[in-house]
Amino acid sequence: MNETLVENIVIYSLVILLCLVVVMIYLRKQKRESKQVEAKIAKAKEDGLYEPVSLHPVIDEGSCIRTGACIAACPEHDILGIKDGKATTINASRCIGHGACFHACPTMAITLCIGTEKRGVDLPHINQNFETNVDGIYIAGELGGMGLIKNAVEQGKQAVANIAKTLRKAHQATYDLVIVGAGPAGISASLMAKKLNINFITLEQDTLGGTVFTFPRQKIVMTSAMDLPLYGKVKLFETSKSALLELWKSVLEKNGLTVKENAKVESITEVDGHFNVELLSGESITTKTVLLTIGRRGTPRKLGIDGEMLEKVAYRLLEPEDIHNKNILVVGGGDSAIESALLLADQNKVTLSYRSASFARIKPANNEKFKEAISAGKVDVRFNTNPLCINKDSVVLATGEEGEELYLENDLVYIFAGGELPTEFLKKAGINITKKFGDAVLKHS
Ligand SMILES: Cc1cc2nc3c(=O)[nH]c(=O)nc-3n(C[C@H](O)[C@H](O)[C@H](O)COP(=O)(O)OP(=O)(O)OC[C@H]3O[C@@H](n4cnc5c(N)ncnc54)[C@H](O)[C@@H]3O)c2cc1C
Repeated sequence: MNETLVENIVIYSLVILLCLVVVMIYLRKQKRESKQVEAKIAKAKEDGLYEPVSLHPVIDEGSCIRTGACIAACPEHDILGIKDGKATTINASRCIGHGACFHACPTMAITLCIGTEKRGVDLPHINQNFETNVDGIYIAGELGGMGLIKNAVEQGKQAVANIAKTLRKAHQATYDLVIVGAGPAGISASLMAKKLNINFITLEQDTLGGTVFTFPRQKIVMTSAMDLPLYGKVKLFETSKSALLELWKSVLEKNGLTVKENAKVESITEVDGHFNVELLSGESITTKTVLLTIGRRGTPRKLGIDGEMLEKVAYRLLEPEDIHNKNILVVGGGDSAIESALLLADQNKVTLSYRSASFARIKPANNEKFKEAISAGKVDVRFNTNPLCINKDSVVLATGEEGEELYLENDLVYIFAGGELPTEFLKKAGINITKKFGDAVLKHS
């Protein structure tokens, strides 16, 4: 064998060896990452976050080539991961439907679906103009199935543009349009109605802002700019709740618009060619058309006790970091109650009142954290108790034992007693509902 041949054999062998080493390192890295994702999935299952509740990505394993583009594009954390060379969901119930994974996947392996085979999601029937099967009642925003602030804003605007096209101004009702709900869809709809000179009113059961303000989460992400009527393009890609709220308020104010807050709509009935919109307060408003922008979270259930109307009583926890040195009563035994009590416990005196003898069906992680907080004396739990009345500086709990009452000094009360979903409200108004078991909301054609 000549020397050059030997040299070549050595070089080729070294190159092959190097390739083998690189492949082995790559495979080991892939195995390690798969294990990490497996562990995250196990944790997500334990925490009850693995099963999707509404919108979520579905991956076609046959088309996925594990580029990881979906994971990089998702603004949320650990919704997707790569396991055994394919993308998979981890905390699917945390998906809020940005759709960034859908757009980022180079092989179109992702579809965005709503509901699952096991868990259906109720959706109202709406046509391409956002009108329901009841002529004159329209739906926009998350209630129609699409999540996200920018989608709600877009739909609110388009729905009102469609209403304006068919609205006959000659009618006996007080308003041309009643907009129910002042989240992103309702705000955008109100601005559009003003722009199109429609005679309208916006009713909100709570305060301006919508769902995103009911969660103890600071960061708001918007994956693309939104176009707000009478304002123009809003290019806030990452913002805070307070900045967004300020923006809503200033746009409404500049255009002389007010939202009627603390005005919960109880029912809508059709009478003589127009609608009667009945409020919880007993007030009745007549209108030619109605736009429902009420989201999907429903209305918090009230306890119906004395003092519940006091200002210190709330059904959602906003900005827990700003609440200090208060005597707080949290009512409820679900995850929202536990999470809120934990968020308040470090800097306040928190008592949790729950009507049963133990917690049922709370996330294991919450259970663990809560047990730790109880042992550390951070939360005082009162099982088998029910609030009897709320006073300015105190609350009274019934303790289950014959006539026994517990008196507690109190500054703030947070009630998490579940809620009424919008389904019943819609059915009462005559709107048809269908359960969706994994239907595609965004899919490649
Ligand atoms: C934890 C969490 C984080 C999120 N983060 C983001 C994010 O970062 N970026 C993003 O784009 N989206 C985010 N979203 C999704 C976003 O909040 C919703 O998609 C959006 O708020 C939907 O707007 P909407 O106007 O359709 O409904 P909602 O915002 O739900 O507003 C509905 C309004 O109607 C009112 N209402 C309900 N019933 C009645 C009634 N009977 N009478 C009067 N008023 C009524 C409610 O009080 C509420 O104010 C998040 C959602 C959650 C849950």
